[in-house]
Amino acid sequence: MNAKKDIRKFSLEEMITEFEQLQEPKFRARQVYEWLWKKSARSFDEMTSLSKELRIKMQERFLLQAVQEHIVQKSKDGTVKLGMSLHDKRLIEGVMIPDDDRNTACVSSQVGCSLSCSFCATGFLKRDRNLDWGEIYDQVILLNKYALEYTNKPLTNIVYMGMGEPLLNYDNVMKSIRIITSPEGLNMAQKRITVSTSGIAKGITRLTDEGMKFNLALSLHAATDEKRDKIMEINHSNNLETVMNALTYFHQKTGNKVTFEYILFDKFNDTMEDADNLVKLYNKVPSFINLIEYNNVEGVTLKKAKSEKRNEFVAYLRNRGVNVAVRRSRGKDIDAACGQLANKNETAA
Ligand code: SF4
Repeated sequence: MNAKKDIRKFSLEEMITEFEQLQEPKFRARQVYEWLWKKSARSFDEMTSLSKELRIKMQERFLLQAVQEHIVQKSKDGTVKLGMSLHDKRLIEGVMIPDDDRNTACVSSQVGCSLSCSFCATGFLKRDRNLDWGEIYDQVILLNKYALEYTNKPLTNIVYMGMGEPLLNYDNVMKSIRIITSPEGLNMAQKRITVSTSGIAKGITRLTDEGMKFNLALSLHAATDEKRDKIMEINHSNNLETVMNALTYFHQKTGNKVTFEYILFDKFNDTMEDADNLVKLYNKVPSFINLIEYNNVEGVTLKKAKSEKRNEFVAYLRNRGVNVAVRRSRGKDIDAACGQLANKNETAA
């Protein structure tokens, strides 16, 4: 007997071909596609506009492997961290961050991460596998459910800043964005989506050439190669000049400003000389800077910068006309903040 095919791997055209083989009309394929993506059905039985006979036929022929909720944790500040299990029992995490005017989902793109940035808990997990585009999409759907439940408002923004380096899972990340932004999916505008990369220059050039127009953020964290080499291995193969060239190309083609994410670490990158180097990079491409408060991670020598240092740093940037925002940490009490996603509270079901 043939192995069952994963129904969520089909494009609409492929679905139509499959349904022709089942001697079902084209519009049925469209209905099923809509159930899978627009209505996010998690089983064939939920597809109630289809006959029972067809649902049984589909069950015999296809697999429907939706991501399942595993553990939900709610922070004092309203942030929700969702542990999710995949069909092969692997675990991932995603976060929903409510704010006055927006609800943001932070999604994972890989199980673990291969890049081992020295300050990041996810980097300790090593990369296990890439998520497929349906698994990325499912995180958005599940986090949207919590946005509605806790705030009565749907998600407004999506950031690819959870576990993994999105541009090392390029095809699945782009496919997930295409379905999220398509009328067959969530019909969300690309400008509501931000992909955060540690600096994969080729990926940045490729997505620019493909006409993608979402927002790009660079996890910068150090403004010279000498310092960046010490905390981010990726900088050895993608140095700042290469990455800045790719970001400039992205800006020229899309008109989008770039965001630099900069975590301030105590006595590592928080001096006025560091601030000055950051201003130099900022002036190379139209951009914003997000200064992020670090959450100390067990076993990591880098520590959160002192608040006086942070204030001096911010003032230095602002006095030089830099557009900078200080991002306070969210979900600290449930290990949901930046760099803390590490499946800490989970064991496979
Ligand atoms: S910061 Fe991002 S790229 Fe670096 S180890 Fe963590 S998840 Fe991977």
